[in-house]
Parts: sequence; structure tokens; C-alpha cells
Amino acid sequence: MTTRTNTSRDKVLQVLQLLRKELSAQELYLELRNQKKGIGLATVYRVLKSLKLEGAIQERLTPVGESFYSLITPTHSHHLNCLGCGKIIALDICPLDKPISQISKSEDFKVFYHTIELFGLCALCQSDSQLPYGNAHQPGMSCPEQNNKDCHA
Ligand SMILES: [Zn+2]
Ligand SMILES: [Zn+2]
Repeated sequence: MTTRTNTSRDKVLQVLQLLRKELSAQELYLELRNQKKGIGLATVYRVLKSLKLEGAIQERLTPVGESFYSLITPTHSHHLNCLGCGKIIALDICPLDKPISQISKSEDFKVFYHTIELFGLCALCQSDSQLPYGNAHQPGMSCPEQNNKDCHA
């Protein structure tokens, strides 16, 4: 029993290491089946749960309720998501490393990983007059900058 569990565990870890991307349980299951290392979907879920409790993998829940799993690596990045053009900018520093290690100490809580996603508008989209949330107003609406003589909208 123990040996079989370890084998399934290694198979799942190998796929995550090899593909280096987020996978759903279903995708992991299919990938393992393609590699002729098929293990049952129920086993995949069980292995994922225990890897999560070990702090080996992290789970990300999408807005549609699907879970994606990936390896936890010592380095990680956070992303700025532009709602205007869909551009994703990776931050190479983690603004939370210090505060989290303090919380971890004061609460005696072992933190495996954290996520933050930042949403807003990139520099280009902020200056794009076509966007309702840009700096400029829509044509025909009263100009918020009443003294702006250059405004002909
Ligand atoms: Zn943008
Ligand atoms: Zn971080």
C-alpha cells in the first residue's frame, strides 16, 4: 500500500516537474495516461491532496471553480493584470516576503505559499481616451476639466 502510494506520488510530481506549468487534476490524469503511467483519477486527487499538505504544490482556484496545481518553487512572481488590454506584467520582487515571515513567526503558522493578483490599467491604457476609465471623458459628456480650452469633445 505504502509503496503504491509513493509511486503514484512520484508520477504526479514528475509530470508537474516536467511540464512546469499549472495543471488541473483532469489534465494530470490525461497526461499520465498518455505517458502510459495511468493512475486513476481518484488516486490523482488523493495524491494532490497529500502533496498540498506537504507544501510541495499549490492550488489555484479559477473563478469558474476549477482547481489548477503547480509546484511550489523558492522563487515566485506576482503579476499585474491590465483590465484594458489584457497585458500581464510580471513583478520580479515579492512585496509580501517580509510581512509574511513576520506573521508566520507571530502566529506560529507555517506558510507554504501565498498568492496576490493585482488588477488595474497599464500606463498605455490609462492614457487611452477610448477607454471609459481613461483620463479623457466620452464625447458629448461635460468635460470634468471645465477650464481646459483644448477640449472639443
Ligand atoms: Zn493595458
Ligand atoms: Zn510573493
